[in-house]
Amino acid sequence: KKEGRNTYRLYRSEMDLAAQNHLTLETELRTMLDTGDGLFMMYQPLVSRQTGLTVSAEALVRWQHPTRGVISPGEFIPLAEKSGLILSLGEHVLDNVIRDIQHWKQQGLVVVPIAINLSAAQFWQHGFVQHVEHKLANASISPELITFELTESLLLNKQAQGIEILTHLSDLGCRIALDDFGTGYSSLSYLQHIPAHSLKIDRSFIEALDSPDHSSRPIIAAIASMAQELGLTVVAEGVESEGQWAMLGNYAIDTIQGFYTGYPVEADTFSMGFTHSLSR
Ligand code: C2E
Ligand code: CA
Ligand code: CA
Ligand code: CA
Repeated sequence: KKEGRNTYRLYRSEMDLAAQNHLTLETELRTMLDTGDGLFMMYQPLVSRQTGLTVSAEALVRWQHPTRGVISPGEFIPLAEKSGLILSLGEHVLDNVIRDIQHWKQQGLVVVPIAINLSAAQFWQHGFVQHVEHKLANASISPELITFELTESLLLNKQAQGIEILTHLSDLGCRIALDDFGTGYSSLSYLQHIPAHSLKIDRSFIEALDSPDHSSRPIIAAIASMAQELGLTVVAEGVESEGQWAMLGNYAIDTIQGFYTGYPVEADTFSMGFTHSLSR
């Protein structure tokens, strides 16, 4: 009984510690977001399966923490969403991507479209599309250079209004990608009404491709052929092996993203890849 009590106590203090760390991290996140110093983007190439060329890149946010090193978004995005800091974070992400594109253009590089992940709060923020329009116009960046990645869950319950916003974004010239496709409550019936340009098959389906478990194959095949019928570009996410790359040749898949074709890298390293692909 005594031991049980001690265990309980230990558990309690561990919980307190976790809660304390959480609170500290939130405070630090808040402080960092005042200026945005400490946030930077990594860029991961999207590669054409046909030509092997980089056709786009996804911008993935990182937090350079003063003592803890680089923190991944899996850790601080949920925190930002819970604490209402996500709008400020999304704003800094947009600014960072715009700045990086401007640098690349100044270096005379041909810039591929850059994909930005959108959170629900940003998407539903009043006047979001006009805001994006102004930002891009001020920076002299063509909207065609920006893809917005969003998950279907974002449209849940508010499909009609969501489709209206997406239509405005698309009319502006931005591209729209449906992220993590196949993991949410896909309502295939409204997919034809979403003005999306591409669909990203979630990593979980790709993972199983070179394993003895074949169950994800008919799902990949179905998503890919449906997307093709709808005129959407199909991206396979999280491709890590040659085996997966080879298997994907069996389906109507245009584009590959994953460690096999390229890790996320910093802006400067990524732009070296541009010159590389230009000189080919
Ligand atoms: P996501 O949109 O599904 O992004 C892809 C994630 O998979 C990235 O992790 C990327 O590094 C990782 N990945 C890419 N290829 C491979 C692979 O071959 N194998 C494996 N195991 N992983 C791979 P990351 O950068 O940690 O981002 C995690 C999530 O955080 C993203 O998932 C996205 O939902 C969110 N996120 C990232 N940046 C932003 C941002 O700027 N704003 C918002 N709102 N969310 C972001
Ligand atoms: Ca994404
Ligand atoms: Ca994804
Ligand atoms: Ca994912």
